Amino acid sequence: MNQKKIIELENVSKSYSVGESLVPALSNINWSIYSEEFIAIVGPSGSGKSSLLNLISLIDHQTTGKILYESKDVASLSEDDLSIFRSEKIGIIFQNFNLIPVLSAIENVSFALQVQGKIKDQKEIEKRSALLLRELGLSNFLNHRPNQLSGGQKQRVAIARAIITNPEIIIADEPTSALDSKTALEIIQLMKRLNEEKKITFVFSTHDTNIINEVDYKLELKDGNIIG
Ligand code: ADP
Ligand code: MG
Repeated sequence: MNQKKIIELENVSKSYSVGESLVPALSNINWSIYSEEFIAIVGPSGSGKSSLLNLISLIDHQTTGKILYESKDVASLSEDDLSIFRSEKIGIIFQNFNLIPVLSAIENVSFALQVQGKIKDQKEIEKRSALLLRELGLSNFLNHRPNQLSGGQKQRVAIARAIITNPEIIIADEPTSALDSKTALEIIQLMKRLNEEKKITFVFSTHDTNIINEVDYKLELKDGNIIG
């Protein structure tokens, strides 16, 4: 493997202001993510998993410390640079799928490519979206809307939507917590397959021990600190 460093956190802390007080969520995190890694962030509720994922997704800002994306300090990037990072490098998968309810599976996936704006030809967009959905086992569901799909199928559509734009890293906060344990395991195995076949880096949080056994690397958080 020829791994490169994608993201580096240097002494990163995060706290939230609530009224007059500060709630600490992460303290002095030093951590690097390399290409092609498949990483589970584990830890009890309140340990800082979502706070950490929101920082590396560029959804939120750290309170102190530095976050580097491909060696560039995120704090020094313009809004334009940040939006390029968000649309070209990062794919996000949500706990509750966040599919657009009025759009079919193929339209949900196509929409991500349309928003990215790199491919203009609508036929080409649909062709790529259909191909990927078929690859993810959804050949018979291309025209189904989210409410006509099971939880596992919805999450497959969401995965297709996240990877159709060719991101370098997929970030997912508890992507399996809305699924039964068998489906949850299938989704993680699918993510692992995509990691191996397409060399996409995955960072996701979970507290499911069945899933933790599937990963080669886990980052364990407790009270906002890395403990393992
Ligand atoms: P996890 O995802 O592991 O459950 P979080 O990152 O959500 O952990 O939370 C870490 C700590 O930060 C907890 O004490 C939580 O209450 C606090 N916290 C998280 N988000 C907010 C917020 N938006 N406002 C205030 N406190 C927050
Ligand atoms: Mg959380």
